[in-house]
Amino acid sequence: MEKHPPGIKPESWVVSAGRASEPGAPLNVPPIPASNFIIGTGRAYSRDDGTPTWEALEEVVGGLESGKALAFASGMAAIAAVFDQLAVGAVVALPDDCYQGVAGLAAAGAERGRWSVQRVAVEDTAGWIRVCAAADLIWLESPSNPLLTVADLEAICAAPRKPGAIVAVDNTFATPLNQQPLEFGATLSLQSATKFIGGHSDLLAGIATTRDDALWHALRRSRELTGATPGILEAFLAVRGVRTLALRLQRAQQTALALAERLEQHPLVARVRYPGLPSHPTHATARRVLRGFGTIISFDLRGGAEFADAVCGNVQLIRHATSLGAVESTMERRAAIPGQGHLPPSLIRLSVVIEDADDLWNELDSAIRAAAP
Ligand SMILES: *Cc1c(COP(=O)(O)O)cnc(C)c1O
Repeated sequence: MEKHPPGIKPESWVVSAGRASEPGAPLNVPPIPASNFIIGTGRAYSRDDGTPTWEALEEVVGGLESGKALAFASGMAAIAAVFDQLAVGAVVALPDDCYQGVAGLAAAGAERGRWSVQRVAVEDTAGWIRVCAAADLIWLESPSNPLLTVADLEAICAAPRKPGAIVAVDNTFATPLNQQPLEFGATLSLQSATKFIGGHSDLLAGIATTRDDALWHALRRSRELTGATPGILEAFLAVRGVRTLALRLQRAQQTALALAERLEQHPLVARVRYPGLPSHPTHATARRVLRGFGTIISFDLRGGAEFADAVCGNVQLIRHATSLGAVESTMERRAAIPGQGHLPPSLIRLSVVIEDADDLWNELDSAIRAAAP
């Protein structure tokens, strides 16, 4: 379950890994709906011992992330298992811009006196290096949601840290194909497999990957005790989805860059945030740490919340929906999400995927023009 073998590109590994090899076995590990197994092999009860279906997913994603993976019920379940490792009184460093669920989880624990939280700006590399010396959990998310700021993971993961400290990177937006946090020296890489790994808006799952065996066992113990186990069908579908990750990402990235460039020239668009644009504040870092700039674009309109809501109401090919990384492009006004009121009111987050670039552009352009105040 280690790093994909040298000489095989991750694009090939993602297709070939996590399959049976015995003659006569199904090519795909089937969904095995079993809570218990005949005793004698070390696999007795699925919540404790896993299932072949979960393990197929763990093998594929673990290889992509270059570590040993553990699948959970959702991205948040995997993230909660990491926070579950903290002793009372721990110090957590959290990005100023990050997934609202993680900010909510950190705030809820801080309110109950479990830990304290320090927020650091994603791009403030010196600030991160400073907190690395004192924090017990250094939580990074890059590119960040929804401002798409890129952290200098290479520098931050190499900074001296407190013994036993965990550096965890939410790698959902980059996917393991665009960014390798464990190669930079992070302790953990996290995926909301609900997004690009599953890729079809039909499941919730999460994956934590590490090279630290003791931490892997501790996370597995947490999964066992809290029951945050993935569903059988979800794990099966996530493996089926991840097979096409490289293709989906490659195409979507090309389209995203083209759309970001065109949006930047649009008279009714005030600002475009896409790490692949030279105008992006962390473009230079993105060029260094990412293999690709990703498929998410955030843009502000020349207008307020009503303008943005009207644009979202005008699209059809692009679905007005939350979430990202599936086969259908989606967009939403992020400040409308609870806990995201600090964002620019007209900011729209667009997840670009596999439709034709011109069709997407034509719809976006007409939706904006038709809604103009
Ligand atoms: C969606 C998401 C999560 C949470 O994952 P779920 O599978 O919805 O629990 C965490 N981090 C990021 C960056 C996400 O986009």
